[in-house]
Amino acid sequence: MEQRPPSVDKLARSLADTGLPHPVLVDVVRSAIADGDHTTARARAEAASRSMLQPVINATGVLLHTNLGRAPFPASDSGQYRNLELDLATGERGSRQDHAPTLLAQACGAEAAIVVNNCASAVLLVLAALARDGSVAVSRSELVEIGGGFRVPEVMVQSGARLVEVGTTNRTRRHDFEQAVADGVDLVMQIHQSNYRIVGFTESVTTAELADLGPPLVADIGSGLLDAACPWLPDGPPPWLEGEPAARQTLDAGADLVTFSGDKLLGGPQAGIIAGDAELVARCARHPLARAVRPGGLVLAALQELALTYLRREGHAIPFWHMATLSADELRVRAEAIGHAKVVDTASTPGGGTLPGIEIPSVGLSLAGDRRDELRAGAPPIIARTADDHTILDLRTVRPDHDTHVADALAALD
Ligand SMILES: *Cc1c(COP(=O)(O)O)cnc(C)c1O
Repeated sequence: MEQRPPSVDKLARSLADTGLPHPVLVDVVRSAIADGDHTTARARAEAASRSMLQPVINATGVLLHTNLGRAPFPASDSGQYRNLELDLATGERGSRQDHAPTLLAQACGAEAAIVVNNCASAVLLVLAALARDGSVAVSRSELVEIGGGFRVPEVMVQSGARLVEVGTTNRTRRHDFEQAVADGVDLVMQIHQSNYRIVGFTESVTTAELADLGPPLVADIGSGLLDAACPWLPDGPPPWLEGEPAARQTLDAGADLVTFSGDKLLGGPQAGIIAGDAELVARCARHPLARAVRPGGLVLAALQELALTYLRREGHAIPFWHMATLSADELRVRAEAIGHAKVVDTASTPGGGTLPGIEIPSVGLSLAGDRRDELRAGAPPIIARTADDHTILDLRTVRPDHDTHVADALAALD
């Protein structure tokens, strides 16, 4: 006699301890039954629970790990209303662009700034607002693709601006841009190569050389270093930042606008910043696309906190800068205290498509073999990397208050 299938509802209720809502459990049970084996329902429910968005321990040593949300920054959510678009002085309607953007502009020496959803939308908005139905000159060496499908020529098409390629892949001169300006381009744009370098027989044009060509000069600097002098760090800029373009210096050199990400070297939440000439920023803010790419109150509150921290010069209070500047000695002390694995010298990387090839000396723990799956299966999941048949846990990107979790996870392995 055929066995009666178990009641979906009853089976779902028996999985309530997984913490998943009943309708989700019902779906899980139904798919287990449909696949012919209701006894897999618990494993499926646990897998569904583990696939949720959740905190993880980043032991990869990649500071801006795109798969882990780039820069970690606390969301300042108090669950309360905010004066997002209310002017508290007058009681009139205010602008969400009055708070964080003004402070960020101050921190990089810009006349004005606005915040949008990410740097991709910043570039799209600038092009649409300043060059729609017009043309934009860009060096052939800077027609970049950033991870996740952001390709400059394609963004250009979406904005309604026409791309005018200038120079060659390896060599572009000021004269090439002069030619494009003589032919009537509406905008000159520089795009930071970010995730690659061209070496060898090369020549490129500095921001200063393009500053007086005539049309507005926009520099997409991408990674969001506010100031090359890093006044928020007591010891000034670390050596590995060498050559990274910064917002303040790019504007000083004559760019009319800079665009950059909130969650790369700025160290904040996902956002895009457009900063520079007040008139041009206002034109971007007025464009209809600005409404479509505006950030929410959570992001703006976090960015305001971040900007204040920069202006107070408290770099140690910004998780990215704190982790990026920890000394190998400090990390070694922590590695030895964690134990359960061999303490090794290793190298962290900035990540997030910035500073390709740059390594920051670091210290970590090394295990024989590939133990990444087991570490990732823990609670909280620990994300490690492998090198030469070993699993490396780089402590630079691990919060010190998570060292005990790491110790427990390693103890459970051996
Ligand atoms: C990263 C980057 C972008 C895209 O920034 P998102 O914030 O990821 O949208 C655009 N331009 C440059 C030069 C970048 O480095």
